Amino acid sequence: MKICSYRRDDGVVRAGIVEDGVVRDAGAVPWSATSGEVVAPIDALELLAPVPAPGKVVCVGRNYAEHAAETGSDAPTEPQLFAKWANAVVATGADVILPSITHALDYEAELVAVIGRTARRVSESRALDHVLGYTCGNDVSARDLQFGDTQWTRGKALDTFAPMGPWIVTTDEIPDPQGLGIRTLVNGETRQDDTTANMLFSVARIIEFITEAITLDPGDVIYTGTPPGVGVGRTPPVFLAAGDVVRVEIDRIGAIENRIVAPT
Ligand code: MG
Repeated sequence: MKICSYRRDDGVVRAGIVEDGVVRDAGAVPWSATSGEVVAPIDALELLAPVPAPGKVVCVGRNYAEHAAETGSDAPTEPQLFAKWANAVVATGADVILPSITHALDYEAELVAVIGRTARRVSESRALDHVLGYTCGNDVSARDLQFGDTQWTRGKALDTFAPMGPWIVTTDEIPDPQGLGIRTLVNGETRQDDTTANMLFSVARIIEFITEAITLDPGDVIYTGTPPGVGVGRTPPVFLAAGDVVRVEIDRIGAIENRIVAPT
């Protein structure tokens, strides 16, 4: 099942189920996920991020060994967590704002797990029972702020720095999230091309690690780290500029596209 969020003509945000190019109403966000009446063809609707305002946006840094290496870091021995907030979340098709305070804007394709059931101290073996499904994410990063500060937050959590979507594919369709092809294209040129099989810490292990001390609630999302190929890891580094279009694709989920724009 594909679960999206869309804005009705009256402004109300609703969940929808995507089937054969049309959206059926699925109740309030978050999801009852009961399939109701046909709303409209998906192309005729304004899609929001599938979780428009997550309570938590938990992110994992350096979760692919080759990505850790390209940024000059050792592979971590435990998941490395940081956070964004809901202010960063935008849908596919939305603009990513290039703020004037950075000159090193970068992309990071990431599989995003969406929590469906409250998770507190769950074991790795039961962790995926708490996942509703998966969506595509871009952990947009301002490298100069990320590495210039002693904490990553300012470089990671700026407005519009967490595109995700276009919908959640539920776990019945993706029982194992560790074998999915994941790619980034910038203006049509492939920059990242890997598989989630190369994560150092699986989605299940990440959830076990987080929930040892942080309760995850329905609608919380986890950005699970990015494979190699980011702009800062290239020689010389290549950063995003206004007008660039960044596309993140993940097998069996779909793709999101966001244009980089200068602030007005
Ligand atoms: Mg990341």
